[in-house]
Amino acid sequence: MTSSERIPVAILGATGAVGQTFIRLLDGHPWFYVAEVAASERSAGKSYAEATRWIEGNMPADVAALTVKACDSAQVTSPVVFSALDAAAAGDLEPAFAKAGRVVLSNAKNFRMAADVPLVIPEVNASHLGLITAQRAARGWSGAIVTNANCAATVAALAMAPLHEKFGLKQVIVATMQAISGAGYPGVPSLDILGNVIPYIGGEEEQKIEREMQKMLGKLSGSKIDDAPFVVSAHANRVAVENGHTVCLSMTFNTKPTVDAAISAIREWRGDASVRGLPSAPDLPLRYRDEQDRPQPRRDVNDGRGMTVSVGRVREDPIMQLRMVAMGHNTIRGAAGGSILNAEVLVKTGVISR
Ligand code: NAP
Repeated sequence: MTSSERIPVAILGATGAVGQTFIRLLDGHPWFYVAEVAASERSAGKSYAEATRWIEGNMPADVAALTVKACDSAQVTSPVVFSALDAAAAGDLEPAFAKAGRVVLSNAKNFRMAADVPLVIPEVNASHLGLITAQRAARGWSGAIVTNANCAATVAALAMAPLHEKFGLKQVIVATMQAISGAGYPGVPSLDILGNVIPYIGGEEEQKIEREMQKMLGKLSGSKIDDAPFVVSAHANRVAVENGHTVCLSMTFNTKPTVDAAISAIREWRGDASVRGLPSAPDLPLRYRDEQDRPQPRRDVNDGRGMTVSVGRVREDPIMQLRMVAMGHNTIRGAAGGSILNAEVLVKTGVISR
C-alpha cells in the first residue's frame, strides 16, 4: 500500500490515555492514517493540541492541528473507527458507528461479552473474527464491533494460551499488580498511589478478568463461541508503576505438565500464523525469561514495541499444579496496539477494504 492509499481512521476518546497511545502507534503506520479525532463535548471544537494534555514523547504535528470533533457518526466519517471511549459513552456511541457502516475496534467493556461480538487477541483467537457475519445478520448493520479485552485479562490469556492448548486449563488463581496508566488520565491521585498498593480497582475489574479469558480461549463453533471450561479467581491491585500490568498465576490443568514441558510450550508458541508479518505483530508474542527476578515492568514493558508479553518463574505450586508470572504493556498490548493488530487482520482478510 503506498502512502496515498492508506486507510483513513478516526479515534474516539482520542484525548485520553489509550487515545493518545493510538495516535503514537499510528504515526507512520503503513496502512492507516489518523484522519479524525473525537472526544467529549468538553474537547469538541478545540484543536487536538489544545484539548489534550499529551503524556509521552512528541505529539505528531499533523494530528496536533486536527480539530477535535464530537463523537457523532454524521460528523466522523472514516470507515475504520478506533474507540478509546469511556464505558459510560461507548454503550450508545459504538453501535451508532457500526450501524452507519463503520468497523469499530473497541477497548471498552460494554460489548465484550455479547455472544455475537468477537473478543480478540489475534495470535490466540483470530478465528473468532468469523462472528462478524453473524453479528451483521443479527443486528442488521453493515459495520461491525470488534473488541479487545481488559488489559490484565489480555496479559494473562496470552501467557496461558500455549498451556491451555496443550494441557487444558481447569482452574486459575490470578493476582494482578496493575499500572496507574490503566486508570486513564489523570487517573489515580498521586497521594493515593505513591508508596502505596490499592487492593481494589473499580469498574468490575475482577469480574472482567474472571469472565473474559474463557471467551478468548474458547472455540468458534458455527456462529457462536464455546467458552473454555475453566474457572478463574482474581485479585486486582493498583500499584505505583507507570506502565505494565504484572499478573501472578497459579493453575491446575486436565493433564498436569512438568515445569520443563510448560516452559517449552511457552517458548515454542507463535500463535495464529495469519498474524505473522503484520505491521504491529511482534516477532515473539510471548518471551520466556530465564532470570529468576523477571519479568519486571521497568525492564521488559517495551519488549516487541510493547506487544510482547514476558513470562517467567514457571514453577511447581504446592496447592495448585503450576505457577508463573506474566507482564505486558497495558495501553499497547492491552489496548491500542491490540486494537490496531485486530484491524490489520481485518485488512488482510478483506473485512476492511483498502
Ligand atoms: P481516559 O484517559 O479517561 O480517556 C477517556 C476518553 O473518553 C477521553 O478522550 C474523553 O474525552 C472521552 N470521553 C469521556 N466521556 C465521553 C463522552 N460522554 N463522549 C465522548 N467522549 C467521552 O481513559 P483511558 O484509560 O484512555 O480508557 C479508555 C477506554 O479504554 C476505557 O473504556 C477503558 O476501560 C479502556 N481500556 C483502558 C486501558 C488502559 O490501560 N488505560 C486498557 C484497556 C482498556 P475528554 O478528554 O473530552 O473528556
